[in-house]
Amino acid sequence: MALPRPTTHRRLPVLTAAATLLAALGVAPAAAATPGHAPDRTPEKTPVAVGYGGVVSSVDPDASAAGIEVLRKGGNAVDAAVATAAALGVTEPYSAGIGGGGFFVRYDAKTGKVSTIDGRERAPLSAGPDLFLENGKPIPFPDAVTSGLGVGTPGTPATWDTALRTWGSRSLAELLRPAQRLARDGFTVDATFRQQTAENQERFKDFPATTKLFLPGGRLPVVGTTLKNPDLARTYELLARQGVDAVYQGEVGRDIVRTVRKPPVAPGAHRVVRPGDLTEKDLRAYATKRQEPTRTSYRGLDVYGMAPSSSGGTTVAEALNILENGDLSRLDEKTYLHRYIEASRIAFADRNRWVGDPAFEKVPVKGLLSQRFADSRACLVKDDAVLTSPLAPGDPSRPASSCTTRGAAAPTPYEGENTTHLTVADKWGNVVAYTLTIEQTGGSGITVPGRGFLLNNELTDFSFTPVTPGVHDPNLPGPGKRPRSSMSPTIVLEHGKPVFALGAPGGATIITTVLQSLLNHVDRGMPLVDAIAAPRASQRNAAATELEPGLWNSPLRRQLEAKGHVFKQNAEIGAATGVQRLPDGRWLAAAETARRGGGSAMVVRPAGKPPVH
Ligand code: GLU
Repeated sequence: MALPRPTTHRRLPVLTAAATLLAALGVAPAAAATPGHAPDRTPEKTPVAVGYGGVVSSVDPDASAAGIEVLRKGGNAVDAAVATAAALGVTEPYSAGIGGGGFFVRYDAKTGKVSTIDGRERAPLSAGPDLFLENGKPIPFPDAVTSGLGVGTPGTPATWDTALRTWGSRSLAELLRPAQRLARDGFTVDATFRQQTAENQERFKDFPATTKLFLPGGRLPVVGTTLKNPDLARTYELLARQGVDAVYQGEVGRDIVRTVRKPPVAPGAHRVVRPGDLTEKDLRAYATKRQEPTRTSYRGLDVYGMAPSSSGGTTVAEALNILENGDLSRLDEKTYLHRYIEASRIAFADRNRWVGDPAFEKVPVKGLLSQRFADSRACLVKDDAVLTSPLAPGDPSRPASSCTTRGAAAPTPYEGENTTHLTVADKWGNVVAYTLTIEQTGGSGITVPGRGFLLNNELTDFSFTPVTPGVHDPNLPGPGKRPRSSMSPTIVLEHGKPVFALGAPGGATIITTVLQSLLNHVDRGMPLVDAIAAPRASQRNAAATELEPGLWNSPLRRQLEAKGHVFKQNAEIGAATGVQRLPDGRWLAAAETARRGGGSAMVVRPAGKPPVH
């Protein structure tokens, strides 16, 4: 179920002169804000910040400020990442929260090592490949999204716990405090939040707990007013006291299980809400996975990413390895875009065929990351012709010596375009890139009554049936299996030291957003903030490549169409964030200038201006 991203601005200024118009848009004048209205507290938004003492970049200023508060008090990047994520659970509750999962990548300044945590949700232990089938037929996708059936065992609390036990210097209790405060005192509703609520209104109203939280008085929250979540404040308080056992072995977990097994639907609602078979045993059995990151070298840099169950690391790496066959810095814009599109197409053809949860599938990670395999695919890219999708995959275990593809093509199944990414660096030079999600904007739409958070619908990232009939699909459901993700938290090193890190939301477009931003920065010489802001194209082994308006409306589109490219418009593709270590030792945080109303880059001690490339 595609919910288009709003392009409206967060923290919309409320102007008295425009009060009538704003009221018509559902925007309250300041005087009409609810008691407890606290807009003065909302930190300024800025897409770029430079200085010392540590940096945080996220989509939301309250969340970035939570991370900065931790850094300022001497916490490290992992501590700050957890505090920022917990705050996002309050202010971005439709994208992130303890009802979801994610992937955490960390660079250690002392050892120079990059490590990861796979905190992906898992299917119930009772799940089989027929999880989403009824009478042998797949259930309608929207029905699966808004159901207990689509809810995976949450991995986010366990991710925070693993990260803090392994690398943290502060207690979870201390790090949850800024988020608790935000949940208790409230945050200012902005146009994006209202818009996202409006897109979900029709299903939210079928769940009394969700209505109570996000549709106060049965209506859309008004821009400029304060939204409080006392239930979440109490849930965080419980986690502060009991640790994440409250979720995996305690009362919050019992409430999650009850909610999934019997989704509390409003009396009289016509919606069929299928239950899920999540049990307390599933929660007890949940464990994060510490696994080696993916690594590839690209133009003298080492690019680290997330290994399966995310397809992010291998797919970004394969595309980079394909593109390394030519010098992108010298190309005209048209040829550069053409090559980027073709490399993405090929990398997605291979992703779709080969990547799934490695606990269940033999995923040829080494082959997918190898330059030899990429070279056997790069020869498909021709500057004077356009490849046809769906393109057939190659075989990473036996790279062809000639330029051929074999087997049936595997198109990219639908994934939501939501999620949130945060990037942090501390004064010691440790770096965290962390992407977290509840899948769809608004997840399953089901709030755990009395607990203040939405449950994910991550299991809808599984293929319901094999994408290519007759060909093994590595992404079918299984007992305790993790659905394939596209999340691509990425850290880039040069001679063992971090140079930048980034990530993005946006379902399968995450991969192309990270890839394109990286290329813009490394090959096209754009400052990180411009590399992120530049209009995006996303090709995922589909007939049409998606273009944001900046490219759709540019003469480049016509030039590429003349070559044979097919395009369709996508209003907005993924709000990325990143950090960069500048050659003079300062750190830079970069966020969106416009997408999702602009992101929030912050630094502990601002110093000077960003360098001009
Ligand atoms: N479910 C997606 C993934 O894991 C993330 C959610 C989204 O961005 O839509 O790749």
